[in-house]
Amino acid sequence: MKPTLDKILEKYHGRDKKLILEAFDFAKDAHQGQKRLSGEDYIFHPLRASLILSHLNVDVKSIVACLLHDVIDDTKVSPQEIEDKFGEEVCFLVKGVSKLGKIRLPKQHLEIGPIEKETSLDTENLRRMFFAMAEDIRVIIIKLADRAHNMETLKFIPEEKQQRVAMETMEIFAPIASRLGIYTMKTKLENLAFPYLYPEEYQWLVENVKERHLEAKKYLGKVQANLEKHLNKEGVLFTKTQSRLKSYFSLYKKLLRYEMDFDRVYDLVAIRIIVQDVKSCYETLGAIHKFWKPIPGRIKDYIAFPKPNGYQSLHTTVFCDLGKIVEIQIRTEEMHEIAERGICAHWATKEGVDLKKRGQRFAWVKQLAEWQKQNPNKEEFLNGLKIDFFKNRIFTLTPKGDVIDLPEGACPIDFAYAVHSEIGNHCIGAKINGKIISLSSQLKNGNVVEILTDKNKKPSRDWLKLVKTNLARSHIKKQTQFNFFVELKERFFPENRFAKIPSKKPFKKKLEQTSLIIIGGGTGIAYFLAKCCQPKNGDKIVAYLTQAKGAAIHLQNCQNLKRLKSRSPEKILEAKWQ
Ligand code: MN
Repeated sequence: MKPTLDKILEKYHGRDKKLILEAFDFAKDAHQGQKRLSGEDYIFHPLRASLILSHLNVDVKSIVACLLHDVIDDTKVSPQEIEDKFGEEVCFLVKGVSKLGKIRLPKQHLEIGPIEKETSLDTENLRRMFFAMAEDIRVIIIKLADRAHNMETLKFIPEEKQQRVAMETMEIFAPIASRLGIYTMKTKLENLAFPYLYPEEYQWLVENVKERHLEAKKYLGKVQANLEKHLNKEGVLFTKTQSRLKSYFSLYKKLLRYEMDFDRVYDLVAIRIIVQDVKSCYETLGAIHKFWKPIPGRIKDYIAFPKPNGYQSLHTTVFCDLGKIVEIQIRTEEMHEIAERGICAHWATKEGVDLKKRGQRFAWVKQLAEWQKQNPNKEEFLNGLKIDFFKNRIFTLTPKGDVIDLPEGACPIDFAYAVHSEIGNHCIGAKINGKIISLSSQLKNGNVVEILTDKNKKPSRDWLKLVKTNLARSHIKKQTQFNFFVELKERFFPENRFAKIPSKKPFKKKLEQTSLIIIGGGTGIAYFLAKCCQPKNGDKIVAYLTQAKGAAIHLQNCQNLKRLKSRSPEKILEAKWQ
């Protein structure tokens, strides 16, 4: 335990060290007697997560909060005690991490997709929800460290849970790390999840890459020495050269694109040169090209054209010693920091962080800087880390786990219409997290909302006072207007004469159909027979609610339906022939 704690303390000074020790003792006492599934004392988990976090050079409050991150959920300690002892900010971070812990990848997403697809699942909304619920970027970064250690000890948890955790890591946590530019974390998480999700592919890679890595390392050792000699001779100033191996998961993805041919992956290993300033980057590039011939079309200037996540560097691929092809990356110390640590690179500089200057390279930070400009009173840097992009949005879930994104102040009726117009039109009540609530309640971030419907009920004009979305508003208007005419008709033409006027339009056919199929236990929903499987009277059928045309009737075993069902299971209703 001591060596890990010492490694964390190395990075902090004076009062910060004392604070970390206090938090460690507090967490150790709180978790006293608890064990991890590995058999270790529980305290090892927050401690190792904090060590991972300290590699990102975060501020001391993040470390303190990470040491305490499981205390609220897993021990008797109350948030108030944490606030009394460690202050409001630490307490806010700890609570934030606990809250994020409750977000789970929905069940229908748990099927493992093919590896070659960048993201096989539509989890973007879930990622946004993470950001919206965290409110402070540090909460997410602590959560990433927590997840990284859980992945390191994944082999100890029951096999049926391993898949879910690994899947969440690959689909939610690694992309979030990537979005924040924390490349070291993204790579770590992907590589830890890889063997659990794609065991055969992983095994194949390990067996095939070993020799090549060894060989390449030996070769690059010699090349590196040659390169340094040459740069010195040319009088180019550089800080250091290093070589890096491509991470297993990104290597595997690249191999898939090149028919699993290692010889076509030129950056299996790469040489990196760190220099003092931007000018030296270009000078170094020139000197290298004098020495080794570059491959045309493979020189990339990410200094003039940074990647969207802020990455900057010069890349070139050259015919190196013995005619081998090698990729070389050239960058300054600062670019290197950003490439490895992304948004966390801000903590790395000791003082005088110029957020606005750095922000120009970082889409995320750019938004933060903009936000700060509009809020001149709150100039403190950490305030800038408050997540404000989704301030006016809330993220709610269907019972199946789909994320519904709504404006602040939205009510269950907005939710119902966002799921489907038919659900909105027949909505009579709602449950949040299993409890019945009134239709006028305001929904909150993370609410799981279940809508109760009655096929005989129609929208009321009073709803217009409750709803916040235009979608709900326009449906309610349409429906209540329609009802008005129905009322008129019923009052003046009680024998329903309108319906008896013969019509050549398909409208009439539809009316006939309505009496033929019972959908969701009633006959109120307009429907049509799906073209893909063309069900006939007596077939086993299912209804799928479409956006505009009512319910589509599919055969139960229709392939198309299977796809629709996996995407939006809440739109499936049972159906049978009358
Ligand atoms: Mn934890």
